[in-house]
Amino acid sequence: AHVLVCGGTGCISSGSAGIIDKFNEELEKHNIKNEVKVVRTGCFGLCEVGPVVIVYPEGAFYSRIKVEDVPEIVEEHLVKGRIVKRLLYHDSVAEDQTIKSLDEVGFYKKQMRIAFRNCGVIDPENIEEYIAVDGYKALGKVLTEMTPEQVIETIKASGLRGRGGAGFPTGLKWEFTRKAPGDKKYVCCNADEGDPGAFMDRSILEGDPHSVIEAMAIAGYAVGADQGYIYVRAEYPIAVKRLTIAIAQAREYGLLGKDIFGTGFNFDIELRLGAGAFVCGEETALMASIEGRRGEPRPRPPFPAVKGVFSKPTLLNNVETYANIPPIILKGPEWFSSIGTERSKGTKVFALGGKINNTGLVEVPMGTTLREIVYDIGGGIPGGKKFKAAQTGGPSGGCIPAEHLDTPIDYESLIQVGSMMGSGGLIIMDEDTCMVDIARFFLDFTVSESCGKCPPCRIGTKRMLEILDRIVSGKGQEGDIEKLELLAKNIKASALCGLGQTAPNPVLSTIRYFRDEYEAHIREKR
Ligand code: SF4
Repeated sequence: AHVLVCGGTGCISSGSAGIIDKFNEELEKHNIKNEVKVVRTGCFGLCEVGPVVIVYPEGAFYSRIKVEDVPEIVEEHLVKGRIVKRLLYHDSVAEDQTIKSLDEVGFYKKQMRIAFRNCGVIDPENIEEYIAVDGYKALGKVLTEMTPEQVIETIKASGLRGRGGAGFPTGLKWEFTRKAPGDKKYVCCNADEGDPGAFMDRSILEGDPHSVIEAMAIAGYAVGADQGYIYVRAEYPIAVKRLTIAIAQAREYGLLGKDIFGTGFNFDIELRLGAGAFVCGEETALMASIEGRRGEPRPRPPFPAVKGVFSKPTLLNNVETYANIPPIILKGPEWFSSIGTERSKGTKVFALGGKINNTGLVEVPMGTTLREIVYDIGGGIPGGKKFKAAQTGGPSGGCIPAEHLDTPIDYESLIQVGSMMGSGGLIIMDEDTCMVDIARFFLDFTVSESCGKCPPCRIGTKRMLEILDRIVSGKGQEGDIEKLELLAKNIKASALCGLGQTAPNPVLSTIRYFRDEYEAHIREKR
């Protein structure tokens, strides 16, 4: 038997570490330690009902497990073969009382796991478990069977676009970096996930760090780089620990370092820890920080592909983008491009949070509608309340109201309704949420995270926040909404980097759809 215990940050904070120890203790007590393997995996996605434990071969999905429940699971299930029904996740039991496979459970039914394929499946601290699920096979394939140009053509043909937010075609970025003149090049990974409510990248790094390492090595071969950097937040200690272990194991197995697979290809990776500045997720600030300088954006061009880390051509992709690379190489670009919509291929991982029953991580094919995510996967709104809006794209995105619940999730459709894909934060609001408060919350975040380099962002967003402050405190004035719109327009047009250029979006989208709430606040001034 196998016992999988979620070791993602969500389940660890609700007590899964103690659960693993208890399982080992109880298995020892019953003298079956050699027959049952307890594996600490990455995130299963259904964080709401954590800590989560799955027992195979039956696939029993136990939820909200406490340390005190472990002796019963060991004695009843693992010793006597009787599933402990009272601890099963309610939706995992079919009408005839049999256990549903995970694919039939409501939360997972409409999901498709590509980037997240190994999370909750393997032990992220054991390279052999990654290798057992075809890990490093894609790297072997590109090094022995493909030219760098063929690798780039494959990524281009797949239609993969950057999952960090902007949606730039990944293969094209790789091609620009390959073609840029330079004796030394770098491959970087942006793991500085900072949007409020977003934890997709953290979960991939915690649950499947080797997929990112393998993809970066593939990218290094494709663009002609021998050095990689992963820029990861220091606030992600579990991700940092698992990455450190994974890099050391990959070196030990000859999958990083000199002469990989005996092909003469050299590539190694170092971690760089970010200290938590949101602006360091912006690519030029991130690269400055890697170099050890203050993380401040600079104007583009030159783009990183031409002049990046240490002024050398640099490829920068985010965690989720990299996690898609090995399966694309192994299964082919046609497989990947057959998933999703015409211009948005593959899947997208979302961190589903806010007023939703199933808080957690979901990965869905592009083109899935917001309604399907909220109701079929997310299980609807707690307390039977009405859906009011969803915020995608975090502080750079916007709110999507109920009238657009049938919007298919893809890059273009989200922009059309005044939001954006962003990195994948998806915050749900119910009928009780004040939308002006929401706009204020996100703007407050960007104001405190502005690096202060350029006046439109440093001063303009501050003035917008002051106006919002007075509106929500009942001191709004006639003409405030128009002032917000004017400031927003000018900041968008003149701020130096994406942080400032997109900072007004939550305000603009809430004015667009919920202007009446702004007006009501102003009318009802005390
Ligand atoms: Fe800094 Fe804001 Fe200007 Fe970006 S837009 S450079 S975060 S001040």
